[in-house]
Amino acid sequence: LIKARNVQKSFGTHHVLKGIDLDITKGEVLAIIGPSGSGKSTFLRCMNFLEEYDHGEIWFGTELVGYRKAANGSLVKDKASRIAAIRTRMGMVFQNFNLFPHMSVLENVIEGPTVVQRRDRAEVIAQAKVLLDRVGLAAKVDDYPETLSGGQQQRAAIARALAMNPELMLFDEPTSALDPELVGEVLDVMRSLAADGMTMAVVTHEMGFAREVADRVMMMDDGNRVEIDTPERIFTNPSHPRTAEFLQRVL
Ligand code: ATP
Ligand code: MG
Repeated sequence: LIKARNVQKSFGTHHVLKGIDLDITKGEVLAIIGPSGSGKSTFLRCMNFLEEYDHGEIWFGTELVGYRKAANGSLVKDKASRIAAIRTRMGMVFQNFNLFPHMSVLENVIEGPTVVQRRDRAEVIAQAKVLLDRVGLAAKVDDYPETLSGGQQQRAAIARALAMNPELMLFDEPTSALDPELVGEVLDVMRSLAADGMTMAVVTHEMGFAREVADRVMMMDDGNRVEIDTPERIFTNPSHPRTAEFLQRVL
């Protein structure tokens, strides 16, 4: 579903991604781990072109993300409308929830499907209620984000992303801003999504979750993919000393 080849990105003179290769197959759950500043968020954002990469290629299915190929083979930045169209096929959940504060939970969830996808409002509302029930927020549909706990806000943000019927879900440290007692309820929702076959890329510091739910774990360091392997291998017998060192610090 995702194919990344030699993806590079610099901010000014700072080479943040140094050539990332990655394949994510349909239904796969990929956890991305690594130290702060290693480029995890930047790479995730490149996948849906929230961040422009400046070298290499990322394919989402048969679509080149963010660029089109010119006749001479060079990459030309794509039209905003096509970039937006590809982006709607991927749901993204951020650390800080990013709900619209002036909208109720239900309004947050139906905004994208009704405004961006122009789907039938009644049908979208019905689907939104199912999704909110699924994330345990059936009683909160008319509440406003500021009245919710962090865990509830994040579950609403997940429901909002799911309402677009994405083919891929991207999570960037979805539990890092939460009080410890609220982490579990969000991970439970993600675990159930994974069990349903959703394709997911999850940047996380929750090593227990990565180990238990991910099909593969990608370790990043200093803009490089250090290794990618099964959780079993990564957590018990990593092939790279940087991985062992990192895990020793965080576990
Ligand atoms: P963390 O675990 O702290 O979230 P990360 O692995 O997600 O770290 P990134 O956020 O991808 O790391 O950042 C990688 C590097 O790129 C960092 O050194 C960061 O300072 C730099 N960086 C990220 N975004 C920008 C930006 N918009 N402008 C300039 N530098 C940036
Ligand atoms: Mg980050």
